[in-house]
Amino acid sequence: MTETEIPEDHPRYASLVTRHRIEAGVERGITSKQGLIAQGRGEAFDYLLGERTLPSADDAARAAAATLLLADRPVISVNGNVAALAPGETVELAEAVGAELEVNLFNHTDERVRRIADHLREHGADEVKGLAGDGEIPGLDHARGVVDADGIEAADVVVVPLEDGDRAAALDAMGKTEIVVDLNPGSRSPRTADVPIVDNLLRAVPNVTAHAEDLADATPAELERVVDEFDADAALDAAEGAIREGSFADADAA
Ligand code: ATP
Ligand code: MG
Repeated sequence: MTETEIPEDHPRYASLVTRHRIEAGVERGITSKQGLIAQGRGEAFDYLLGERTLPSADDAARAAAATLLLADRPVISVNGNVAALAPGETVELAEAVGAELEVNLFNHTDERVRRIADHLREHGADEVKGLAGDGEIPGLDHARGVVDADGIEAADVVVVPLEDGDRAAALDAMGKTEIVVDLNPGSRSPRTADVPIVDNLLRAVPNVTAHAEDLADATPAELERVVDEFDADAALDAAEGAIREGSFADADAA
C-alpha cells in the first residue's frame, strides 16, 4: 500500500501513514531497522496520551520556539526517523527560527548520512551538515560521538528529536541547551532536556514552527519570559499523569 492508497476516512489514518513513512524510510536506506522498534515504542505512548497534544506539551513547544529564537547558534539534529516522518516540517522549522540542520545518527554510516541529507534537500533544505564529522561529543565512543565542528559542536541550543538517552546526557554535559521531542516522559532524553516536548514528532515540529511564527515580533525580554515561565518538571509530571491516570474514554472524547 502506498501513502496515497491509505483511505483518509480510516479511523487509524494518521497512524497508518506514519507506519508507512517509517517503512518507506527503511526501504530507501534512510531509517535503520532499530528505527522501526523506536516507532513502535512511540506509538504505544501516543495511544496512552490519546494521540493529542497535551496543554503541557503545547507550553513546551512555545518555550522551545522562544529558546530557538533567542539562540545564537541553534542546530536541529536529524536522524533516520525524523527524516522519514517529517522532512518538510523539519526544514520549515529550521527556516522559521534560523537554525542549521545536521544529520546525526546513532548508527552512523556516511552512506546513510548522505541519503538523509539528499532527502532533506528534496524537501527544501539548502545546507545540511553532518558529513564533515570533524567534531565530537566528549564522553561517547567515536562512532556515536561524531558531529560537525561548526554544527552541533559549536551550537548553543540543539533540538534533538527522538535522541538516545546517553547522547542527550553527553550533550547536556557539554553545556548545550537541549530541546527534546519524545513521547515517553520516563525516557532519559526528555528527563535530561531543558525543554522536553512530550508529543508526537509529527504534531510537535509544526507546532513549534507555529509558535515561532507567532513570537516572531516578540522582544528578547518577552521571549525570555516565555522560557522562564516554562517548568520542565511540571510538564513531565503532567504527561506522566495523563498516561497513568487517563482513561480511554477521555481519549475518545479528545
Ligand atoms: P532511553 O531511556 O535511553 O532514552 P528509550 O526507551 O528512549 O531509551 P529508544 O527506543 O531508542 O530508547 O527511543 C525511542 C524513543 O523515541 C522512545 O522513547 C519513543 O517514545 C520515542 N518516539 C518514537 N517515535 C516517536 C515519535 N513519532 N514522536 C515522538 N517520540 C517518538
Ligand atoms: Mg529515549
